[in-house]
Amino acid sequence: MNSSDRPGEPSFIQEGAARFHVGNAFFRPQTRVVRDLGVLMAALHRQQTGRLRVLDAMAGCGVRSLRYWQESGADWLWVNDGNPDIHPTLNANLRSMLQAGRGQVTQEEANRVFFTCHLKKDYYDLVDVDGFGAATPHLSTCLWATAIGGLIYLTSTDGRTATGHLPTQSLRSYAAYARSHPAAHEQGLRLLLGSLQQQAAARNLGIRPLFSLFTGETYRVMVRLLPKPMLTDQTYGFLGYCHGCGEYQTLSWRRLGRVSCPACDRPPTLTGPLWLGSLHDPATLTTLIDLADQWQWSDRAHLLRLMAAEATMPPYFYLLGDIGKQGQMDIPKRSHLIQALQTQGYRATPTHIHAEAIKTDASLAICVAIARSITRPLPSSD
Ligand SMILES: [Zn+2]
Repeated sequence: MNSSDRPGEPSFIQEGAARFHVGNAFFRPQTRVVRDLGVLMAALHRQQTGRLRVLDAMAGCGVRSLRYWQESGADWLWVNDGNPDIHPTLNANLRSMLQAGRGQVTQEEANRVFFTCHLKKDYYDLVDVDGFGAATPHLSTCLWATAIGGLIYLTSTDGRTATGHLPTQSLRSYAAYARSHPAAHEQGLRLLLGSLQQQAAARNLGIRPLFSLFTGETYRVMVRLLPKPMLTDQTYGFLGYCHGCGEYQTLSWRRLGRVSCPACDRPPTLTGPLWLGSLHDPATLTTLIDLADQWQWSDRAHLLRLMAAEATMPPYFYLLGDIGKQGQMDIPKRSHLIQALQTQGYRATPTHIHAEAIKTDASLAICVAIARSITRPLPSSD
């Protein structure tokens, strides 16, 4: 953060190419990674299609819009925020964009903006919806404003609901019952994707998740709107977790009547329906990694490579701490366990969602057995 603190003058913040005031708007420097990936994806879309019209529906201080304009090469931006108190800051930050005739700033409730786009058949290449709390008030309506083939970048910060602590609230938000378990933050991304996929399918449309990001408090999904439904009974179903032995399973609708844990035969707790397909699109990630390398964004390229590795893995992960506890041993080292699993013929990777976890197609029992062969047992208590 750079400041130009002279007495009586507000200080500037610099992020990427954008120089701006925060004023009384909400801004978290820690979520820069979310904005960086959005800017990168927008720039890729501009390169691939030759155009980029952006709708920033909840712009806040305007940092994302500024960066889409300056770094992604947006041709036109509709920058909106419903909160009248921040408009002096927003207008001041976007002055040069407005003077260049490259966009407009409005003060409307976001859903009115989406319906205006629909009425005027004015569809956007990127619709950025950065709301606070659950995404659901804007989850179906943002589809009205998005071009077919265009991008939607959707936020949820409602972690308590998504991780299974408020199952009734999750029914209301996502029409899905969410339960708590070790991989519940991934579930947060999948509930969001599932709900968006279902809303799109109800309009005979579909979405392809390009990347899905969890940062510790924020769930952000970047999807492409497609002209045909992508929801099937294979990609939209249930996640089972056994509180007895810790094993996961995915369940299709037809198997709901005969659910038991494959390892210990107990009935698992079920979350769903949610998105069981891929969290990320490997082909898009490959081109994003190339662009991040070109821009010398090595941290972002590293994150994107992590996403690419986990893209086709099962829709859950195991915590290293749980593996250690079950095997009554020290917590295994992540890289050693991944290598040992791969040596035994299993697929295994880290996950961007949790630093102390792995994704693999091996069962938890196999992870414990393999970890035991490479990790010191805990000293006996007698
Ligand atoms: Zn079990």
